[in-house]
Amino acid sequence: MTDLLHAAVNGGELTRADMIRLLELNDPAQEELLFQAAYQVKLRYVGPVVRLRGLIEISNLCVKNCFYCGIRRDNHRMHRFRMSEAEILEAARFAATAGYGSVVLQSGERADAENTEFIERMVRRIKEISNGRLGITLSLGEQTPETYQRWFVAGAHRYLLRIESSNPGLYAKMHPADHSFVRRVACLKSLRDCGYQVGTGVMCGLPGQTAADLADDIRFFRDLDVDMIGMGPYIPQADTPMGRAFKAFEPAVQLHWGLRMIAVTRLVLRDVNIASTTALQALAPDGRERGLLAGANVIMPNIGDVSHRKDYLLYDNKPGTDENATESRERLEQAITGIGERIGYDEWGDSPHFHHRTGGSR
Ligand code: SAH
Ligand code: SF4
Repeated sequence: MTDLLHAAVNGGELTRADMIRLLELNDPAQEELLFQAAYQVKLRYVGPVVRLRGLIEISNLCVKNCFYCGIRRDNHRMHRFRMSEAEILEAARFAATAGYGSVVLQSGERADAENTEFIERMVRRIKEISNGRLGITLSLGEQTPETYQRWFVAGAHRYLLRIESSNPGLYAKMHPADHSFVRRVACLKSLRDCGYQVGTGVMCGLPGQTAADLADDIRFFRDLDVDMIGMGPYIPQADTPMGRAFKAFEPAVQLHWGLRMIAVTRLVLRDVNIASTTALQALAPDGRERGLLAGANVIMPNIGDVSHRKDYLLYDNKPGTDENATESRERLEQAITGIGERIGYDEWGDSPHFHHRTGGSR
């Protein structure tokens, strides 16, 4: 184990079997060695700097019906909302003033013309009110290449679309028959062709998922040559088909799947941005800091109005639903300095990988 980690820290390639072995570790002392090794690789490639993206959850309207997600179309117990233009711009102003450098607009999936235009206008307006300073990431699901292109031209430069699982069989089990794995992969390629920095990721600890699946997910990220990774543990949501069927939920087990997945991904991909996601924090109060110590370097604090947060419940016990953006900024700063890192204020914080693959063209 120690030799394997030593080699990985010093540039050695991990085989699929090595990845599986590391992902399966359950001895706490050995797991800790894995996290330390990943942390060293993070320090070497991206430094002890946390990149912040202000997350604005702009709407929970969704045309899709993913079996795991609390805002799926058929969950009629969810009160539906859409943030207004003024609310979105206010959140963006907060991000600019707080020095967050970039924002993420996320929502359920919609493909109607009204929505496409609305997003295009929001991207332009956020650029205008910040004099081009705020970076804009979108996470709005599957769209046509034309829509991706329009939003890119308007000024968005990063896009997050998780593959959820790179195992087509597992993907099919988590989605209704009209959701297509092939289309999702095509969307990731089309985003890349448009010129976006592309982020993807998976849920970890899914029912039926093995360490071999997760190793293959990391190989999928590598083969796709992505710039950013956003992944987190699966957390059941009581009003969903998967949440109702998942009886074996143990928060600590899910948390550790998420942390080991971050660590092994850092060892393999090295120079990408990896998010320490809210799902980790939902499982342990210090979950996001632990994600940073296992190799992640991005945090996406929620900066939307608190009034909508209780309606954006992708999973149960989602944290931060009663904490406003200023409070969360202060707590985050304390947590990050508490582990000896600093925040990269007023920077877009692109992944070094993007600059390496494009020869520093931006
Ligand atoms: N509609 C967009 C973005 C919003 S969903 C999309 O699907 O891409 C954002 C992410 O939330 C999804 O990619 C999924 O990985 C995650 N998510 C949904 N339900 C979840 C759950 N029960 N536990 C953990 N993550 C979940
Ligand atoms: Fe909609 Fe995204 Fe949730 Fe699927 S994961 S139901 S597309 S919001």
